Amino acid sequence: MSPYAAPVRDHAGNLRDYLLAAGKATPDKPAIVEPAEDGGLRFVSYRQLEAQADAYAAELDALGLDVGDRVVLESPATADAVAAFLACFSLGLPFIPTIPETPVQRLRTIIGMAAPALFLQAADGSREGLPPGLGMARFGPKGVTTEQLPAPRVRRRRQVVETDPAYLIFTSGTTGRPKGVVMSHRANIAFHRGIRAHGLIGPDDRVAVTSPFSFDFCLGGIALTLASGATAVPVPRDRLDFPRRFLAFLHEAAITQVHGVPSLWRPLIRHEPDLVAGLDPLRSILFSGEDFPLGDLRELQGLLPGRRIFNLYGATESMAASVTDVPDPLPADLERLTIGYAHHGAEMDVYDAEGAPVGEPGVVGEIYLRSPALFSGYWADPEATRAALVPDPLLPESGQVVFRTGDLAYRDADGRLYFCGRIDSQVQIRGNRVELGEVERRLREFPGVSGAVALVAPAGEGEPELSAFLTMRPGAPAPKLVPLRAFCAETLPEYMAPRSLTVLAELPVTTNGKIDKDALLRARTAR
Ligand code: ADP
Repeated sequence: MSPYAAPVRDHAGNLRDYLLAAGKATPDKPAIVEPAEDGGLRFVSYRQLEAQADAYAAELDALGLDVGDRVVLESPATADAVAAFLACFSLGLPFIPTIPETPVQRLRTIIGMAAPALFLQAADGSREGLPPGLGMARFGPKGVTTEQLPAPRVRRRRQVVETDPAYLIFTSGTTGRPKGVVMSHRANIAFHRGIRAHGLIGPDDRVAVTSPFSFDFCLGGIALTLASGATAVPVPRDRLDFPRRFLAFLHEAAITQVHGVPSLWRPLIRHEPDLVAGLDPLRSILFSGEDFPLGDLRELQGLLPGRRIFNLYGATESMAASVTDVPDPLPADLERLTIGYAHHGAEMDVYDAEGAPVGEPGVVGEIYLRSPALFSGYWADPEATRAALVPDPLLPESGQVVFRTGDLAYRDADGRLYFCGRIDSQVQIRGNRVELGEVERRLREFPGVSGAVALVAPAGEGEPELSAFLTMRPGAPAPKLVPLRAFCAETLPEYMAPRSLTVLAELPVTTNGKIDKDALLRARTAR
């Protein structure tokens, strides 16, 4: 029997309340704008969003779930999905966002690891064949409909507290094998406070969010927008996949800020430069997730002069660690973008391989992040958690932990940081340490190259082989390996000149829009 007659829902420190607070002053303003069924736009006001979230919460509550019970929330990013996650927040049900495109094998792995009580999908979702015993329900305009009740639960918790998990995100694996990153209400709110101090989003902004719902860049973007009392516009997949449709949608929805990974912009700049240049209401662009190739960035600035471009750096484990204005225009001799300083209320330090602080400018080390916005740990993985959340090297006695990001960076004389790859992208080639980012930088200097990735591929029995993957500007001839190697060897040691070359029409990307290294390696072997 449950020890408590009724849970308390006062929402102290709850993300639901935090995200809806700014909109209280303007209840009729659209919180979310999305495509309507009739081809126009549907406006969901703050008042409507809150009412929908509370209706969902009441229906979910009736299922008897306890604080901490996990819910897989599968949907594209829609207003209803936002209401559903707000409902999960208010009940203290950590949700795991997935999308209808999530491969069933990956979904099963997630379910196996996280042991959710409920699989909650959008009304028109078609997911089936999930493990028996898992509660199944749908959410939509008419509320929550239950198809299979969750196994009976005992309620042991009376109140959601701010250190409780708000959601779990399974990373796609840029940083190694997929891990379930657990984020608390408190860490999230700390992140929002830190980032909002930079004045990224004003209340009049209309923010297009382009990442899939399963990626924290999507949740974070929607949440930052709501917390700023502005309007979030999640862009549906079918608009994103075609440059013209996407740009027409940005026009139609009068978008003032676009969030997206750098690869979002490549086809737009290449195929529809005039339409990009015509995005009049657009005031700013925010990118995250990986380096923005400087050539693409220059082209974008050329098409959209005077717009602010924000570089948001960080990992799911802290949502983001810094936000920095890209200089406009980019200086001609600029070689690398800075990721600046940690956001308000946090700090990034650089340490060498022995864990000693790196003080001097220009020396590469690993970024450690000290922040109130850190994740709680990796789900069911205490070993990985201990390796990532380590005692503060400058205050080990305090019990404070910092996050070892696995990212490499150096400082300039003013202390600004420059990201230069992952620790695991430092590879050994014939006994020499090679930073793949450095190879890529040189490859991009080859005439006609528009995109470059360097990877190490296992070469049968022998040494791993350094491989180059290139895309070319329209009309530029594909280079041959020998002259490309000679070009690299002009400025790099011989062992940093690639031994194989694959020229592609496009660089493949993952569902999150980041460069898909596995697909590249497959493209190489398929030659
Ligand atoms: P995954 O890609 O595995 O799903 P994340 O999205 O958490 O996981 O990836 C975080 C990593 O992406 C960071 O540790 C960093 O290496 C890289 N990254 C994120 N933002 C930037 C940025 N603005 N510039 C360069 N690299 C970035």
